[in-house]
Amino acid sequence: MRAVVTGAAGFIGSHLCDALLARGFTVVGLDNLITGDLTNVAHLTGRGFELVRHDVTRQIAVDGPVDVVLHWASPASPIDYLELPIQTLKVGSLGTHNALGLALAKGARFVLASTSEVYGDPLEHPQKETYWGNVNPIGPRGVYDEAKRFAEAMTLAYHRSHGVDTRIVRIFNTYGPRMRLRDGRAVPAFMSQALRGEDVTVFGDGTQTRSFCYVSDLVDGVLRLMDASTHEPVNIGNPHEITIEEIARTIIRLVGSRSRIVYRPLPVDDPRQRRPDITRARTLLGWEPTVGLDTGLLQTVDYFKAKLGV
Ligand code: UDP
Repeated sequence: MRAVVTGAAGFIGSHLCDALLARGFTVVGLDNLITGDLTNVAHLTGRGFELVRHDVTRQIAVDGPVDVVLHWASPASPIDYLELPIQTLKVGSLGTHNALGLALAKGARFVLASTSEVYGDPLEHPQKETYWGNVNPIGPRGVYDEAKRFAEAMTLAYHRSHGVDTRIVRIFNTYGPRMRLRDGRAVPAFMSQALRGEDVTVFGDGTQTRSFCYVSDLVDGVLRLMDASTHEPVNIGNPHEITIEEIARTIIRLVGSRSRIVYRPLPVDDPRQRRPDITRARTLLGWEPTVGLDTGLLQTVDYFKAKLGV
């Protein structure tokens, strides 16, 4: 079996490559490295993995047979998509179109990395896949949210019009080793601040919530969905919901840091609450997360300690 993974040098993309190789796949990874990092896949060289430096908003050419295309390429942290708004829109739209075109040409299965951001600042809680969302199309986060909503629409259009065997995974907040120290998201930001003894920057009053899933659980859910037969979107995330202040305190405690919490302005359109309803994943995939927050955070702390040399 041969897989093509776009965004292979990214945080989740690289873990996905690990898991596919462990299952006996050979993997062609595509990445333009604007937010990906070669060190995430350096250990895979010579193990049935090949990385091609390519911007998937341009046509994708891969020689030979392909059994599955997993489209993971995109800036994915709020800071990244604020800095790269046009690239974010292009990879979600043109990049998805090209990746679907590759799947169609090769007769391959297609798996789209979508996101809980399709629900925007949700008015329904927890979020079920049937919820249509509450997205501001012209706000700063709109470039990501709308690109992913377009990507879902395009994926189902290729399924309905061309019969491509498609899957859509809506990924909720995920954390773990290989996140970038400076990607601006809550877990890496709080960890690098706590490890350096700097102030931990909570945005707003810290009462907004998220539900954090460890990356190995997420990848397990994605591969189960790849093997399943549903074309409907499936939420993959950890339903354990906590406030941002609580995760900041947990990280400070686990690091054993003396850092204090400081409060900074809340970014525009920052969702108030987010928690996946994972009934569909439980029912269709027999999946649920198994890694507890403390366990996952400690593994991530080890990674960031090594990166920071502390
Ligand atoms: N956040 C924070 N301090 C930071 C980074 C993020 O308080 O240094 C907050 C952010 O405002 C949001 C939550 O943490 O409410 C999760 O943000 P993240 O960027 O990790 O992901 P999001 O779920 O917003 O895409």
